[in-house]
Amino acid sequence: MTETAEMKSNLTGPSPAIAERAFLFERGKYAMRVVETIVAMRQERKRLKGPVGFVATMGGLHAGHMSLVRQARADNASVVASIFVNPAQFGPTEDFKNYPRDLPRDLAMLKEGGVDIVFAPSVAEMYPEGFSSWVDIEGVTERLEGASRPGHFRGVATVVNKLFNIIQPDVAYFGQKDAQQALVIKKMVRELNTGIEVVVMPTVREADGLAMSSRNVYLNPEERKAAPVLCRALCLAEELCKKGEKDAEKIRRRMRALIGKEPLANIDYVSIAEPETLMEMDAVRAPALISLAVKIGRTRLIDNVVVE
Ligand code: AMP
Repeated sequence: MTETAEMKSNLTGPSPAIAERAFLFERGKYAMRVVETIVAMRQERKRLKGPVGFVATMGGLHAGHMSLVRQARADNASVVASIFVNPAQFGPTEDFKNYPRDLPRDLAMLKEGGVDIVFAPSVAEMYPEGFSSWVDIEGVTERLEGASRPGHFRGVATVVNKLFNIIQPDVAYFGQKDAQQALVIKKMVRELNTGIEVVVMPTVREADGLAMSSRNVYLNPEERKAAPVLCRALCLAEELCKKGEKDAEKIRRRMRALIGKEPLANIDYVSIAEPETLMEMDAVRAPALISLAVKIGRTRLIDNVVVE
């Protein structure tokens, strides 16, 4: 299958039935409106007081998402959040069909966070029959996540660009957890003159250091115990850097060895790279983006730190 055919094979999927829930969430003193069509979103947008902050999500919400909502709420007169599991950013063997979907729970959390409007379109609304316009950011998308997940960033850039066009926010909030994604979006906004400020927020972690992720719900208890090996490897790298280790490959080797001791872990990549170009470093220079992707059982997790 070609890349486009692979992505298209995902472009049919369950569309959450939200009409009655929209009604539910419109009741009460502080109404949060839930809209599922682009036309309705544009109408709602016209009524919003600016500046408008925007948080894009795929649902399965957790404290990481809510930290973006909190910042958006603090910085802006209005806040829009989107919930859309974007089929175009999943490969054919990835977890699009099984991705955690719990709209009532997500809506309750967003309402609690003070969101004004939730945009929750169906797949057909975002990718109508015959859809063929894609946003391709070259260079930085070819490494790390892009190398492991061909077509992923084209799906991400396309949907984020569409969401920006539909919602027209002043400021958009993304998480450092997906460092390469934040880089790709900042580059897209800069180079396509989107005129939106992009704010990148720190990674929110569980008490044992595991980066919060919607995919953490896939982990069984044994895997959950193994999962903090990602952040332990990052901590080791940070420590080595702090002690003055300059040999990037030596650090990568130590990280791989630490992860290798965890029987449930399978390394996809371990990287020490320049944070803007994502070029791998031979000699560590600050700032360095230390990132990794590791499968714990069947669940692929990513995490990173920046060494300043
Ligand atoms: P997702 O729903 O996975 O597409 O994520 C939506 C947004 O939340 C993205 O900008 C992510 O980078 C951000 N995000 C996800 N997990 C975390 C986390 N643990 N801490 C901070 N931001 C996060």
